[in-house]
Amino acid sequence: DKRVECITKKIASYPDFPKPGIVFKDIFSVLADPPVFKDLMVIFEERIRAICPDVEIIVGLESRGFLLGTPLALALGVPFVPVRKKGKLPGELKQVSYKLEYGTDVFEAQANSVKPGQKVVIVDDLLATGGTMKAACDLVTSLGGAVAVCFVCIELVDLKGREQLTKPCDAIVKF
Ligand code: IMP
Repeated sequence: DKRVECITKKIASYPDFPKPGIVFKDIFSVLADPPVFKDLMVIFEERIRAICPDVEIIVGLESRGFLLGTPLALALGVPFVPVRKKGKLPGELKQVSYKLEYGTDVFEAQANSVKPGQKVVIVDDLLATGGTMKAACDLVTSLGGAVAVCFVCIELVDLKGREQLTKPCDAIVKF
């Protein structure tokens, strides 16, 4: 797919960011190029329509998952629901804590944001070790949602994040 080639070329790499030894993959260079950004969103939409035609909710993960998830939800005509870091969302919440390299973090979602049994697609920019996506799957499940598939723009294959997940995962670009 020529579109995937263009997206792959557009993704910028920053060695030693945010710390030595890490090569940071940056999707903002894709968002800065409207035709390539458009192709990315069309591919997301095509794949979700193919894999989960009856999707009922798009869940996006703070914060780059919001940038991909909101236009996708609009294109599909389904609600967008944010999963945020602790302390940012009002109202009754559900929480899940997950391990980081050092310490833990907490994800939250509004308790009534997903109705029991609703089919959910979770969207983020990148799958690395898989801890973030696994936590999001656990949170959506605790809300009563049925996670149909996790979608990312980029998968860092060597980190084997996919092995953490019990739900199917699709990535547009694999490094
Ligand atoms: P994981 O929990 O190790 O899979 O990390 C994935 C999360 O960290 C995602 O929410 C990403 O936005 C972020 N992340 C990890 N590595 C990168 C990177 O190289 N570029 C951009 N985001 C990253």
